[in-house]
Amino acid sequence: MSREPKRCVFCGSVGPLTREHFWPRWMHEILPIPGKPEHYQERSTYTGLFRPAQPSRRTQRQGATHTITFRSVCARCNNGWMSQCEEEAAPVLRRLLSGTPSTVEPPGRMALANWLISKVLLADARYLEDTVMGFAERINFRTARAMPSALAIRIGWTATTAFSGSFYRHATTIGKNVYDAPPDGRKNTHSIFFGMGQLFVFALIDGGGNFSLDAAGGHLVDIVPLHEPLAWPPRASTDAEARQVAQCLDDLLKSGRVRWLPQPNATDKSTDKSAPSGLRETPR
Ligand SMILES: [Zn+2]
Repeated sequence: MSREPKRCVFCGSVGPLTREHFWPRWMHEILPIPGKPEHYQERSTYTGLFRPAQPSRRTQRQGATHTITFRSVCARCNNGWMSQCEEEAAPVLRRLLSGTPSTVEPPGRMALANWLISKVLLADARYLEDTVMGFAERINFRTARAMPSALAIRIGWTATTAFSGSFYRHATTIGKNVYDAPPDGRKNTHSIFFGMGQLFVFALIDGGGNFSLDAAGGHLVDIVPLHEPLAWPPRASTDAEARQVAQCLDDLLKSGRVRWLPQPNATDKSTDKSAPSGLRETPR
C-alpha cells in the first residue's frame, strides 16, 4: 500500500495538510482539454532476485490528469512560499508551454528553476516508500532555495501536446552491489516526468550517482546555469523521444543490463515489501 506523508513535507508541521494542485489552477484553462474528464493511474511493482515486473495495476480516476492534487503540504507552505514561487514563474511558464520563441533572462530562469524544483520535491515526497530526497534537503530549499546536489532537471518541448497533463514516476534502488543501497531501506533513484502544453520536464534524483541524464535522450535543456539567458524553444523532441525520456529509468530496469538482487535489509519492518524495489548491478 502507498503511504502518504502525515506531516508537511517542507516544514514538518502536522498541518492540517492541504491539497496542492500539481498543475496550477491558472494552467487548467489553457491546457488542452482531453476528450473525457478522466485519467488512469498505473502502478508497476518489481521484486528482487531476477524476477520480472509483476503485472501492473491500472486504476481509472475521475477528472483530467492535470487536475490532480497532492495532500503533502500545510496551508502555510501552500499559500505562502509555494504560491509565491508559482506567481514568479507563471509569466515564463506561459511562454514555454505554448512554445513561443523567446529568451528567458536569468531572473526568469531562476523563477522557473525554483518552481520546477518545488514541484519535483513535492512529487518525490508524495509517497513515503518512494521518497529519495531527505527532509533536510527540502527544508534547505524552502528556507534558502538551495538546489539539492543529487537533483538534475532538464526541460524539452514537443511540436504536439501529446504529453500535456501526463505524469510518469519511477523509483528504485540502483547500485553496483548490495552495499550501495541506503542503510535505512530507502530508495536512491527517482525519475519524474510531467508535461504542460508543449513543454515537458524530466527530473532525476540520483542519490547513488549511478545514472547519466544523457541516457534519457531527447533534445533537453538543463535548467542551469541560472546566470545565462535561456533560448526557447530548443530543438523539438518527437513524441517517441519524449516517451523515451519519460520511461528511461523504467526501460533500464527492464533491460538485460540489470540484475535484480534481494533487498539487503528485508527484515526492516518499516519497509513496505510491496513497494517497487530492486538493485542494479552494473555489467563489467
Ligand atoms: Zn509546511
